[in-house]
Amino acid sequence: MPALAWSDLYAHPLKRGHRFPMEKYDALPKRLLANGIIRPTDLFEPYPLSWDAIATVHAPDYIAALRHCELPAAMVRRIGFPLSLRLVQRERMIACGSVMAARIAQKTGVAFNAAGGTHHAFADRGEGFCLLNDLALAAADALQRGIQRVLIIDLDVHQGNGTAEIFVQNPRVFTFSMHAAGTFPLIKTRSDLDIALPDHCKGTDYLDALNRALSQIFPLHQPELVLYNAGVDVLHGDKTGRLSLEPEECRLRDRLVFEACRRWNTPVAVAMGGGYHPDINSILDAHCATFEESLICKR
Ligand SMILES: [Zn+2]
Repeated sequence: MPALAWSDLYAHPLKRGHRFPMEKYDALPKRLLANGIIRPTDLFEPYPLSWDAIATVHAPDYIAALRHCELPAAMVRRIGFPLSLRLVQRERMIACGSVMAARIAQKTGVAFNAAGGTHHAFADRGEGFCLLNDLALAAADALQRGIQRVLIIDLDVHQGNGTAEIFVQNPRVFTFSMHAAGTFPLIKTRSDLDIALPDHCKGTDYLDALNRALSQIFPLHQPELVLYNAGVDVLHGDKTGRLSLEPEECRLRDRLVFEACRRWNTPVAVAMGGGYHPDINSILDAHCATFEESLICKR
């Protein structure tokens, strides 16, 4: 089960007094290896995705501004990170990780980007710590390679607003977002299916809603590839989410997704998405659980 190796310590204020938990990207591959969930030979290294590939999703003016690090200050503020060539390079690597994971998943059944899930990036702008939309780029790459129908399942606690807008006119990509209604982004875009949940809804209600949605979407869209944003900011105690899933319920969420992929014999590539629990071990345990649950999809 290949996974992206990523080691880049980068910290930036999330809100006053909070830090964006970049250390998880360094710690996750180490923990997966230490726990025997993956082997060293499972890891792959991405490279900065080409600007031509990025242009399959993102607008020429936006790309030019990123290449020259010349975004207007208001756009940089919406992104939330100070813009630098290093940050742009990092986003290109993350995007490549998802493109590669999707390609590998078609052979192995399942593959991971141990980062990614930058779903707040629109074609012409970024926001919410996202510059380039990695799963949108992976979907565009798959369509170019002849895959007819892609399903993006976004279970990060925040709505996949950028992804939804990018594919709003594209019937070959079905966008499904299940998220907390009251959290960022406050103004939502329209996915093919949105399920907006009330604050702290019960885990059983969450899982029932997910189960119902998956059992409708798969026969309706018949995807040849699933791209899954498995953000763990749905956990109880997360600093940005408004849901309250217990760790076991978060694991069951992943199990429902992977069981559906296996039932429909559909390869699945996974991006890790958000996770802002004050206890880094809670975040890492939940991400490791996603890897463990995915084993049923391995060919
Ligand atoms: Zn999130």
